[in-house]
Amino acid sequence: MVRYVYDFTEGGREMAGLLGGKGANLAEMTRLGLPVPPGFVITTEACRAFLATGSPPEGMAEEVARHLAAVEESAGRSLGGADDPLLLSVRSGARISMPGMMETVLNVGLHDGSVRGLARASGSDRFAWDSYRRLLQMFGTTVMGVPAARFEEVLDALKRRRGASDDLALDADDMSALTGAYKDLILRETGEEFPQDPAEQLRRAVLAVFGSWNGGRARLYRRREHIPEDLGTAVTVQRMVFGNLGADSGSGVAFTRDPATGRPGVYGDYLPNAQGEDVVSGIRNTVPLAGLAELDPASYRRLLEIMQTLERHYRDLCDIEFTVERGRLWMLQTRVGKRTAEAAFAIADALAQEGLIDRREALSRVGGEGLARLMFPRFDASRADEPLARGVAASPGAAVGAAVFDSVEAARRAAAGERVVLVRQETNPDDLPGMVAAQAILTSRGGKTSHAAVVARGMGKVCVCGAEELVVDTAGRRFTAADGTVVEEGRVISVDGSSGAVHLGEVPLVPSEVMRHLETGTDPAAGDPAAGGGLVAAVTRALEQADSVRRLEVRANADTPQDAERARRFGAQGIGLCRTEHMFLGDRRRLVEEMILARSPEERERALAALLPLQTADFTGILEAMDGLPVTIRLLDPPLHEFLPDRVELAVRVATVEARGERPGRRDLELLEAVDRMHEENPMMGLRGVRLGLAVPGLVGMQVRAVASAVVARRRAGGRPRAEIMVPLVGDVEELRLVKAEVARVLAEVGEESGAPVDCPVGTMIELPRAALTAGPIAEEAAFFSFGTNDLTQTTWGFSRDDVEAEFFPAYIDRGVFAASPFETLDEDGVGRLVRIAVEEGRAVRPGLQVGVCGEHGGDPASVHFFHSAGLDYVSCSPFRVPVARLEAGRAAL
Ligand code: PEP
Ligand code: MG
Repeated sequence: MVRYVYDFTEGGREMAGLLGGKGANLAEMTRLGLPVPPGFVITTEACRAFLATGSPPEGMAEEVARHLAAVEESAGRSLGGADDPLLLSVRSGARISMPGMMETVLNVGLHDGSVRGLARASGSDRFAWDSYRRLLQMFGTTVMGVPAARFEEVLDALKRRRGASDDLALDADDMSALTGAYKDLILRETGEEFPQDPAEQLRRAVLAVFGSWNGGRARLYRRREHIPEDLGTAVTVQRMVFGNLGADSGSGVAFTRDPATGRPGVYGDYLPNAQGEDVVSGIRNTVPLAGLAELDPASYRRLLEIMQTLERHYRDLCDIEFTVERGRLWMLQTRVGKRTAEAAFAIADALAQEGLIDRREALSRVGGEGLARLMFPRFDASRADEPLARGVAASPGAAVGAAVFDSVEAARRAAAGERVVLVRQETNPDDLPGMVAAQAILTSRGGKTSHAAVVARGMGKVCVCGAEELVVDTAGRRFTAADGTVVEEGRVISVDGSSGAVHLGEVPLVPSEVMRHLETGTDPAAGDPAAGGGLVAAVTRALEQADSVRRLEVRANADTPQDAERARRFGAQGIGLCRTEHMFLGDRRRLVEEMILARSPEERERALAALLPLQTADFTGILEAMDGLPVTIRLLDPPLHEFLPDRVELAVRVATVEARGERPGRRDLELLEAVDRMHEENPMMGLRGVRLGLAVPGLVGMQVRAVASAVVARRRAGGRPRAEIMVPLVGDVEELRLVKAEVARVLAEVGEESGAPVDCPVGTMIELPRAALTAGPIAEEAAFFSFGTNDLTQTTWGFSRDDVEAEFFPAYIDRGVFAASPFETLDEDGVGRLVRIAVEEGRAVRPGLQVGVCGEHGGDPASVHFFHSAGLDYVSCSPFRVPVARLEAGRAAL
């Protein structure tokens, strides 16, 4: 037989699905013998049945009546009885906590008859009438649907008549008058009397709590927090205890450790002569928990004992609501408490040290996102004004600097020691020097995989992109916010890459100890615990644990020796993606332009020959930084529009010169002609990747020669270079075959010249659906696969990675199409399916085929878990995400 009601003595925390978090934990505390006012829980199943049919399930009412009788018996009082009435609280509680989103009705059982009994039993008329008017107010709004503001109006009118500034100034007669006014109000608004029958009150309060699952606030909260719609809420019915019975009573909230830092010690607030809702509402000033020690030492001691019991029992930080009723302590709620990232690491580590949990469990309780937060300097949120704008939080952290609008100005000011924020509509490779120079990048267009976002993340730079309300006027060197504020060049702004907020002026920063440690490898034990040294040690131990259990290797996406070195310090086990196009920026861009503009093979060869020594030096440096570890060098994959000047700007420049009656420069004309000729409507789908390598003779050869020469140079220097060559954007095995032939030819040449064979495995990116779907044949040629999930997401969904995020993703997330941008967290059902197919079919052809991922998802916690389960060998991500990926790879293996 289905049961819908459980007494607290019958349940436990393992029943949270059925009893909700609150009910299950009250049952658990009861089981532990802690002082919990007796009560029972009506299950989420009953709620679901009610929501589906509009009426409570059969048998529920009888069960409630039976359990109520038991509570009455244990209390020796009856619900709403004329003398010393038993009163009940009726509270919501879903499996996942939704604080304040659903309804509560307190003091159920009061009516015109029992209010006097309560006055006698409590010895306070005021208390009794105050309790009654609270019931009328809560029942009137929650159950009977009277707008809350009506009650406020009545209360305010009374306070005005009495000249009272707050509720405390109202006496018993006022409260009594108020109940009369409230009853009239209810009748007027609903045409119905407030029910005087306590059983009827209880019945309707329970159904109202069920119904509040579908209230507007609750629905919105669930959408935001990705809480399933069909869980339903349980209803906890419990004997009321009162903290507002005088000086020897009170209510409080407490944590078994500091939820902000995780430091041991009890934390909390206490409010004498008050009910729980007064503590959280902030209408009166609370005292720290230590205040209770003075007011009521016995209750305080008992509370400490209970907190210790709870923490030992739950083996975690607990938060608690309690009430002292005339010197007697009652527990009203506990749960494993929410905490900051810092506290999460500190607590997990401390509990492991104390032997309460093992290291694996400690690892399960921390997360990569939290670690990422700890790695970035942070704004002191308490000192920030309303934001000027909000955009996509693309690369976390906090940065302050003068707004500048182009790369040259950014570099100039930075060289003079000024901190700057580069503000652009969007960025392109031309902006790189400015991005390097800037503290942060702010764009008004583009999403999480836009150029600005990817590059900023790679550099560990703060970035907010797609702040669409900003009108960026590059020529005028200013931007305008939605509220009309104009920010001229040089004005200081603060950019919060963790929240996406942009503030005017300087919001103070809090530096990150964890980052300092990871960057420099300082001894965590030497850290001052008060300054975060304890936290650093906690993070270090979590990472060690992760490293000891993970199966996935972690590599980095890095294009310079400096990035490679940093990645190595962060624990990278190689480079999974070296984007060689990133090496053609700055001064070298001219050489690339020349290669693209070349009109004869000789011209092209000259351009390539000029690039060769530069590339060789790059590769040598990177191989040195990663000596002994694999370095996957990807052949050039530039969407050409990123390497040529902007078509419109160029046309305007030429036209302006012509309008003055002058002749435009030859180079500008050549460039314009080339840009026109090569213009692509959709450059991300155009002449990129392997297509370019096959279309531009000599390009692959030059790059391979550079790799091979670097290998030779490193060997001569006594190093152990392990270069791998990766071909981008392959859709068909034949493309790979053609490139491989060229690679083999050049490797053989360099081998011969140097007197020793040079062997580099040649693998491919899998970043087009066709590549995934023909992974079998491709594996015949590929020594390894690396999933380019940025392009694979773009091409699987048909979403342009540069444009769509800011445009309609917010609406998609709001409307539940997806929970997070698929460019951020891998879409397991679609893109993930292609990944699984490719892994399976690739390994069927080539057992042991090495498979990794180098798209942005490689550093995303949820995606790392997916890659683990899909059987990949490694993830590769930005250097700054390496610790995050290590941690999550460990967690995935638990
Ligand atoms: C990818 O597409 O996922 C990838 C790593 O390549 P890129 O971002 O350079 O296109
Ligand atoms: Mg790609």
